[in-house]
Amino acid sequence: MFVTILEWVAWKLGKRVIKIDPWGTSQHCCNCLQKTPKALSDRWHQHDCGISIHRDYNSARLIKSVGLGLALRKTAPRGKEARSLCDSMRVE
Ligand SMILES: [Zn+2]
Repeated sequence: MFVTILEWVAWKLGKRVIKIDPWGTSQHCCNCLQKTPKALSDRWHQHDCGISIHRDYNSARLIKSVGLGLALRKTAPRGKEARSLCDSMRVE
């Protein structure tokens, strides 16, 4: 029901809904896409690439980049480029 309403609202606004499998998104870094295993009790995502954000925010950014196909790039964006991409991504 929620997805149906969401798709209708998106259609009304000239947008589209992209569904992705969120499984494992908390176990990868949205900045460099490397696997970053953590327990459910670990609420903060911190990685060697320099990112330090809330676990859920990391997942949300990764889901967005997967939805937009950015995570499928052969060479993952790094550092400033990746942060800039994650922060500026918009669904047209
Ligand atoms: Zn990283």
